[in-house]
Amino acid sequence: MAPQHTARPEKKTWIATNAPVAIVRCDDYDRSTVLSAVRKACDAASIPSVDGLTVLVKPNVLSDAKVELNITTNPEIVRALIRILRERGAKTVLVGDSPGIQGPSFVPRNCGLQEVCEEERAEWCDFTKEPDVRTVPGSFGKRLPFAHALQEADMVFSVAKFKTHQLMYATGTVKNLFGLVPGLHKSPCHLAYPSRESFARLVAGIYSIAKPSFNILDGVIAMEGAGPANGTPRHLGLILAGCDGTAVDAAQSTIMGYDPLTIPLTQALLDRKLTGWRTPQEISYPMLDANDLVVEDYKRIEQQPSSHLFTSLVLPLFTRVLKLRHQKKQPEPLFDMSRCIRCGRCVRICPGKALSLVGDGNDRRISIDYGRCIRCYCCHEVCPADAIRINSTERTEA
Ligand code: SF4
Ligand code: SF4
Repeated sequence: MAPQHTARPEKKTWIATNAPVAIVRCDDYDRSTVLSAVRKACDAASIPSVDGLTVLVKPNVLSDAKVELNITTNPEIVRALIRILRERGAKTVLVGDSPGIQGPSFVPRNCGLQEVCEEERAEWCDFTKEPDVRTVPGSFGKRLPFAHALQEADMVFSVAKFKTHQLMYATGTVKNLFGLVPGLHKSPCHLAYPSRESFARLVAGIYSIAKPSFNILDGVIAMEGAGPANGTPRHLGLILAGCDGTAVDAAQSTIMGYDPLTIPLTQALLDRKLTGWRTPQEISYPMLDANDLVVEDYKRIEQQPSSHLFTSLVLPLFTRVLKLRHQKKQPEPLFDMSRCIRCGRCVRICPGKALSLVGDGNDRRISIDYGRCIRCYCCHEVCPADAIRINSTERTEA
């Protein structure tokens, strides 16, 4: 009798999809120029059919800064996409984001998206309303609230800004999905997942829940230097698009001059087999090629040594004391009181409870307890006055 073999569980297969990323030129935010460039990018990247569907468009609103600061996805990019979705028969277009510092009933007035939604008859969604709690895969059971609009939509389109990011080095269409977690629910995640690598694994888990069907990156005027909020606008004149957001973001890293495989979020996505490619060489470019567009003098965030893989995997299980000790090696936030407008945003968002506004009148200033600081840089992200620097060598007591 032939020996009996127990069938092995099938390994998860990793299908390379040739992940095409369409990169097109778009020199400015003139309405018709943007519409024509976004249309070209959508066609070249094979935008999926949206006929009869409800589509959730997720721009990057960050802290609702004015359009001219180029911190948020430009409203003309969002307008163009809404028009294209309507042309292609989308039943309903929802638009939403929930900046970390904003509470319920937030509307994006300054960044121009409220106007675009009204003019294009798209529905702005309040992500804080009746969120659905879900367990994030690969996060040691972390349960997070997610915008209810995610349930209502048949498809998600991530429409992000091409930017550097102090914690993640680059922020693109995948990191943009963290905004599906409403408002102030976001910053405590940094306390639970304090290192770049552990936080990247959490974001990869969120991506697996909310994987967009299509992605657009606004690189017409990108941000370099101290992103995502206090960097410098940099004209690139590019729009990137693709069905695989991980490939779009890898193209962004390439253009910035990073090796995409050194970006912790990309590493986490690759580890979890959430990419349609295994090496950057497998990403195809039907229009312009990211490898020909590398900006040699792009002001990148200096990369720090990565956490040991094991440490980064189990860091969320560490006690607060051990997490803090681990994070001490990372650059510190420094406060420039001559720029600070005493708005208190950094104090409100700080997950480590390391900040306070002390003193009275003209002496009112930010006090930081570096012993509690987990180096998440949320303070830097929400500061409207560019009063916070991230520096590894210098420390000025605030
Ligand atoms: S001070 Fe800034 S970097 Fe430190 S924990 Fe608070 S928000 Fe994060
Ligand atoms: S440092 Fe920035 S966020 Fe903090 S109080 Fe000053 S201006 Fe506001």
